[in-house]
Amino acid sequence: MKSIWSMNTEIEKREALIGGLKTDVAVIGAGMAGILIAYHLQKYGVQVVVLEADRIAGGETKNTTAKITSQHGLIYQNLIKNLGKEQARLYAEANERAINEYETLITKENICCHFMRLPAYLYSEKEQLCLEEEAKAAEILGISSRFCTESNLPFAIKGAVCFEHQAQFQPLEFISALSKQLTIYEKTRVLSVKGHMIYTERGDVFADHIVFATHYPIINVPGLYFMRQHQERSYVLALANAQKLDGMYYGIDKNGLSFRNFEDILLLGGSGHRTGENTMGGAYDFLRIKANEYYNGHKELAYWSAQDCIPHDSIPFIGRYSRIRPYWYVATGFKKWGMTSSMISAKIISDEITGEKNPYKELFSPQRFHYGLSHKKLVKDIGISIKGLARGHFLRKAVKCPHMGCELHWNKDEACFECPCHGSRFNDKGELLDDPAQNGIKKLPN
Ligand SMILES: Cc1cc2nc3c(=O)[nH]c(=O)nc-3n(C[C@H](O)[C@H](O)[C@H](O)COP(=O)(O)OP(=O)(O)OC[C@H]3O[C@@H](n4cnc5c(N)ncnc54)[C@H](O)[C@@H]3O)c2cc1C
Repeated sequence: MKSIWSMNTEIEKREALIGGLKTDVAVIGAGMAGILIAYHLQKYGVQVVVLEADRIAGGETKNTTAKITSQHGLIYQNLIKNLGKEQARLYAEANERAINEYETLITKENICCHFMRLPAYLYSEKEQLCLEEEAKAAEILGISSRFCTESNLPFAIKGAVCFEHQAQFQPLEFISALSKQLTIYEKTRVLSVKGHMIYTERGDVFADHIVFATHYPIINVPGLYFMRQHQERSYVLALANAQKLDGMYYGIDKNGLSFRNFEDILLLGGSGHRTGENTMGGAYDFLRIKANEYYNGHKELAYWSAQDCIPHDSIPFIGRYSRIRPYWYVATGFKKWGMTSSMISAKIISDEITGEKNPYKELFSPQRFHYGLSHKKLVKDIGISIKGLARGHFLRKAVKCPHMGCELHWNKDEACFECPCHGSRFNDKGELLDDPAQNGIKKLPN
């Protein structure tokens, strides 16, 4: 089903590319990241075109819950412990700045997109100490935060961390307005990229600089992003007659829930899992049980799901794609916090291309290796990929992913095939739904 944003926003259609062209920068992908990167570059006076396989914001962005926040789960105490105070402070500052930049841009461009400031809460029904520590860590790093034990939620909590002055908006109203200023070719899938040449199904593009804003990078080598992140999926219900909350909420417990309002509607999210691991189904059922428990008399208006890339060290990959392609750039690994991460990507990548200094470049650099945060998850991701590849290659009955040949699993709730290794998805006819695969399944077993 469509998200409430897609149900209520019509984004102007664009022509597909016809024939070849030459440009300073080509951005591949017109999601939140691609649109913000292209907008920033254009403001710097750079000639930029966006190439989109399908429709503007037609990827994960249309299904986000669109909280604009520096509160990314229990992250700050871990960053301080593993990377030190200065790197953790940079992460906090980059995200807090991104919230302000949305507000400045929306005001400057006079965009009506339901942008509003409000607090964000990270809560638990079981834990207290780690939330108190998170509040302290965030405060030390310059975020206005506090620990509390009371909330507006329809159940008792042990504690919550409140970050003041965060934000939320309607993402498609925002993108619809901003994209009007940009040169975008829709229905123009990029098939391959070699050096400065981009080959599409509609013509070829020569670009001095190429930005991969395709959610999951579509080129495996160089870069090796398929080894450094996996995808996780979660589910959302839009409810009428539910509750008006005093802020946005995100639960840290196993099966924790996400809450935010949009006007009188409540978005209730959760049931997250690694993509490919929902063979039994029950993700929407779980949310419906919770909705019935908390909101007597509510009405379900919509339900949908989305997924995002989870980097092995919890920090997005933003910057140069690879040392051996200094004119390629990437923005990925947003770990379900792609609103601020897209804005950070826009600043870092436009600064790189225009030769400006950026204080956050090293922290987010795809070429970094943060040892303290990295090795365990990296090893686990590689292990799962090797198992999926082996099953895909050796099991005769396996439905294989066209990306790298891993065995696909059925998602009962979404009635689609999913790859547990890298997260590609296909409908019941084998047609492509989500990257990194770029083609559908050639032959489905009978
Ligand atoms: C359930 C859920 C809730 C979320 N809620 C929040 C939230 O509250 N706050 C927050 O900050 N983040 C949230 N996120 C994360 C956020 O939605 C994503 O990080 C963000 O939308 C990703 O944007 P993107 O531009 O990178 O990707 P996309 O929006 O997927 O854009 C990528 C584009 O690239 C195009 N493309 C792919 N391959 C090609 C090709 N070969 N040629 C041309 N084009 C191509 C696709 O068609 C697509 O349009 C949530 C994620 C989930 C799963």
